[in-house]
Amino acid sequence: MVGSVDALNEGLRINGAVEPLPEDFDATAVIIDPVPSAVVDNGILKEEAQINKGKEKREIVLGRNVHTTCLEVTEPEADDEITGDREAHMASVLARYKRALTERTKHHLGYPYNLDFDYGALTQLQHFSINNLGDPFIESNYGVHSRQFEVGVLDWFARLWELEKNEYWGYITNCGTEGNLHGILVGREVFPDGILYASRESHYSVFKAARMYRMECEKVDTLWSGEIDCDDFKAKLLSHQDKPAIINVNIGTTVKGAVDDLDLVIKKLEEAGFSHDRFYIHCDGALFGLMMPFVKLAPKVTFKKPIGSVSVSGHKFVGCPMPCGVQITRLEYVNALARDVEYLASRDATIMGSRNGHAPIFLWYTLNRKGYRGFQKEVQKCLRNAHYFKGRLVEAGIGAMLNELSSTVVFERPHDEEFIRKWQLACKGNIAHVVVMPNITIEKLDDFLNELLDKRATWFQDGKDQPYCISSDVGEKNCLCALHK
Ligand SMILES: *Cc1c(COP(=O)(O)O)cnc(C)c1O
Repeated sequence: MVGSVDALNEGLRINGAVEPLPEDFDATAVIIDPVPSAVVDNGILKEEAQINKGKEKREIVLGRNVHTTCLEVTEPEADDEITGDREAHMASVLARYKRALTERTKHHLGYPYNLDFDYGALTQLQHFSINNLGDPFIESNYGVHSRQFEVGVLDWFARLWELEKNEYWGYITNCGTEGNLHGILVGREVFPDGILYASRESHYSVFKAARMYRMECEKVDTLWSGEIDCDDFKAKLLSHQDKPAIINVNIGTTVKGAVDDLDLVIKKLEEAGFSHDRFYIHCDGALFGLMMPFVKLAPKVTFKKPIGSVSVSGHKFVGCPMPCGVQITRLEYVNALARDVEYLASRDATIMGSRNGHAPIFLWYTLNRKGYRGFQKEVQKCLRNAHYFKGRLVEAGIGAMLNELSSTVVFERPHDEEFIRKWQLACKGNIAHVVVMPNITIEKLDDFLNELLDKRATWFQDGKDQPYCISSDVGEKNCLCALHK
């Protein structure tokens, strides 16, 4: 606001003097009818579209319904306020929506979101516009912030990933994607001519970053497990020895839950002649960044190794009503990044300007309730349940794969899109997956499996349909199609 007032004054200033407002200026004057004319949708007026509703074919793009379920914003009638009709209407829309959410939450298996949380104690804070704009460690003039919670959460994560308080910098992001965008940007600022290396199965946000920053990007092959193929990685490094390397290492890939071998990646860099001052590693831990530290055999994600940054999503394993994430990097690197934008007169090192100030409080609340030990227990439970589920799938003759360090169970894509939508399974080609999060109980997995088995009996009845071959996705030994069983 301050900026716009200045701009206004700027506009009124003629030859250095402020022009007074005209005497007949009416500050209360408003446009008589502020309602714009109806929106035209594909050349058809909205009203006509309403009339034709039901007759039109449902428009499906990538399995999603585009427009037909929109809740229209309608203009209040003049007497609405008196009769209270409007309030009643909105309340009923919200009540219906809440029922649908409850139902959809019950049947959710495919995305790695922990939907089990109770933040009742925080509803009292909904009345505040909490915004941590700018740097978490430098207070801005906006006082309605939650930096004290944010820094507490960041300290907790820095300790988890073994970086001293005076050596780290970080912030609470809007999501795992923002963490990747930031980590790769820091890498690019440290090595402006660096080449980005990422496995084919990296999250799409990594390749988006490459496009946004116009970076040269090398896609590295993967093993069937979904892990980066380190031989291919080394070969690609050797053909670009003249340029520094910026590497995205996956701590849990999106589709198969594969964990790249961080130690082997570092070894290959060294073998290819890249000294520590010629590479930058960003660890994308959106999914398992908070799980790996609690798995005994997992490669350790720690800043004691030559890595530059780690990011994690807050709404995935932790569980949070709004998307959020955590990004931790080395203070020395961010100083390099922030210096480039010093003209802003304050340290600006985040991707976003305004930042959700509620998210840090939700994270702080959960971390305090569960602690490192609580997360460890939940991780164990998830891995156990995932093994149980994979075992039952295979027992029932359904091809499935579960990476050793993961709770993502990959299996044959069900042959019925309705069923896929009901259970909200994420699919890719012939495979689907269930990500076992703390809210996915054995009972829920059993319910799902029983329904799946019933359905399969009808899909494959009389040899009408055949189970998909998934050997190219998960290896022959995990495939139970007619050819490979
Ligand atoms: C989910 C995910 C992301 C992106 O996280 P968002 O919070 O959805 O933006 C990035 N990387 C991996 C591996 C993921 O699974």
